[in-house]
Amino acid sequence: MKIAVLPGDGIGPEIINEAVAVLHAIGKRFGHSFDTQSYFFGGAAIDKFGVPFPDETLKAVQEADAVLLGAVGGPKWDAVDHSIRPETGLLAIRKKLGLYANLRPAKCYSILADASTLKRDVIDGVDLIVVRELTGGIYFGQPRGISTIDGGGERGVNTEVYTTPEIVRIAKVAFDLARKRRKKVMSVDKANVLESSALWRKVVIEVHKDYPDIALSHLYVDNCSMQLIRDPKQFDVIVTTNIFGDILSDEAAMLTGSIGMLPSASVGANQRGLFEPIHGSAPDIAGKDIANPIATILSVGMMINLNFGLKKEAEAIETAVMKVLEEGYRTGDIYSEGTVRIGTKEMGQRIAKKILEKVV
Ligand code: NAD
Repeated sequence: MKIAVLPGDGIGPEIINEAVAVLHAIGKRFGHSFDTQSYFFGGAAIDKFGVPFPDETLKAVQEADAVLLGAVGGPKWDAVDHSIRPETGLLAIRKKLGLYANLRPAKCYSILADASTLKRDVIDGVDLIVVRELTGGIYFGQPRGISTIDGGGERGVNTEVYTTPEIVRIAKVAFDLARKRRKKVMSVDKANVLESSALWRKVVIEVHKDYPDIALSHLYVDNCSMQLIRDPKQFDVIVTTNIFGDILSDEAAMLTGSIGMLPSASVGANQRGLFEPIHGSAPDIAGKDIANPIATILSVGMMINLNFGLKKEAEAIETAVMKVLEEGYRTGDIYSEGTVRIGTKEMGQRIAKKILEKVV
């Protein structure tokens, strides 16, 4: 199994080191061979090649069976031209690999419930997943741009646009996923105001006819953002557009306590997916050995499960994470009184050790 590893910038290389070590621990324990080569991406690639997504990296990700990404960006590259910003590389890799579905689970570990700003009884037991459409909608729609207007001033335009095939394929991802979970899909749109959302709702209802075993409901995005805070346990699978998914999945992340805990998977037309933590490059804590590597380690779990079908190996990663947390070890972002504060490296090593010790 060939994995293209893109550490990126900021805390990226630190968290990726630990995630790759955990992957190799899984290989050793279960007898699999993972080929993990690293490539330049994001700011690191701008420094070396002048662009965030160099040809060498494009070739590597196209030839790989899966892609594991750390995070990109940081103040060092904030002033570079928009067309070669590190984040432009992210949009390009999603498009090039046809990754149209972003899966973001938000699961509240009971043991960490007190790390959230929300009340324990509201969030304890939350286990939902946001399925965000990733290559369409307002982030890609035409026309877009800023132009001058007569009489002075400017006009900024973006276009929210969805077609039937785009909605059909993302709806299928959500319904298929729900079949492996609690069999509930909530489709989120703004069909009372937007034509693109009216089409979204119509097509989701149509696709649902092939999934009679799944319960489908609909919410407007404003109500959904409120319901996520009021009663998040009502949700199983949420399927929504690119921009609504971007916002709602960050909101859902906060239900779990720390952004440092949440993995994600981007999947598409072919077998090859991209797996990354949902957080960014955290330049404020980079190079200090204090970042939480668990989101990236759990992304490795999603990768081996979804991309390679290694279900029990993925469970071993999740159990190892739980055991280390149960023993009271915490990185700074999830630390609370009475627990033991440890660094990025030690957290990774403890999780890998649990896997190798066969205690999970
Ligand atoms: P961020 O997610 O990097 O950081 C937000 C806050 O969360 C910071 O206080 C940070 O220290 C903390 N944090 C994030 N990950 C953590 C971890 N693993 N452990 C402990 N604490 C953690 O978001 P930001 O500060 O808005 O963005 C920083 C840079 O990252 C920007 O250049 C942004 O464009 C980029 N970014 C990249 C991605 C990506 O690569 N997919 C996603 C989001 C932001």
